[in-house]
Amino acid sequence: MILNTGRDNSRLKERLERIVKENRISHAYIFEGPSDIDKEAFARGFIKGVLCPKSLGENCGECSICSKIDHDNHEDISYFRKDGLSIKDAAIETLREKIKIRPVGERNVMVICDSDTMTKKAQNSLLKTLEEPPGDALIILLSENMENLTQTILSRCVKFRIDAQPETTEDEQAGKLIEMALSGKRFHELVHEAGDYARDRAKAMMLLDSMERTYRNLLLEEHKDLRTYKPEEICRYIEDIEEARVRLKMKMSAEYAMKELLLKITG
Ligand SMILES: [Zn+2]
Repeated sequence: MILNTGRDNSRLKERLERIVKENRISHAYIFEGPSDIDKEAFARGFIKGVLCPKSLGENCGECSICSKIDHDNHEDISYFRKDGLSIKDAAIETLREKIKIRPVGERNVMVICDSDTMTKKAQNSLLKTLEEPPGDALIILLSENMENLTQTILSRCVKFRIDAQPETTEDEQAGKLIEMALSGKRFHELVHEAGDYARDRAKAMMLLDSMERTYRNLLLEEHKDLRTYKPEEICRYIEDIEEARVRLKMKMSAEYAMKELLLKITG
């Protein structure tokens, strides 16, 4: 991904869905993400995908299992949280006991919230379980900064990064459209993706602002990935956006103004 805006973790979710559907679930995962992301909610989504009997990989969100997961009262799932400033050895000892108990359903799931606050002793204790995870047990470590975890723990977990949610939906849409254009998607695909943004004048205006911001961010990052796009092209697109804005102000239909712009940025 080259864009900073417009990330909704949909790719990560798709990847996890595929892992479940193809029955390639590992014993241990680390989900790392910034503090303002509800990582527990993200983990619950993944666990529902693993345990929901109705819809493998995804989740129906309605069955008794999904409902139990949502209400944190599923018998096989345990959450471990900080005691004071850290996760202590005692918590991990409890985990090591619980994980050995035969699950009511398919498998035991242990979620360690703020796992990067585990004391050294707790980490060493967890390592023993990671080395020999019982049965189909699933261990999920949520973390803000996985560098605080020992190398031996890191090496035994599959690691994923959860990105910050986009601030607004038009930022999300702008990021998506621009990435599609840069990756060679066709004009009609972009028009389809733009949806309401290419039909409603107020929405189109907001989208134009977001697109301009996204392009300007790209220019600032140009040194990072020059092969993907050319700065002079991006500058031209920014001019095209300004033109579309002028046309909208002159009461041209949103559909026409947006289509004209999308045609330009798809070259
Ligand atoms: Zn379900």
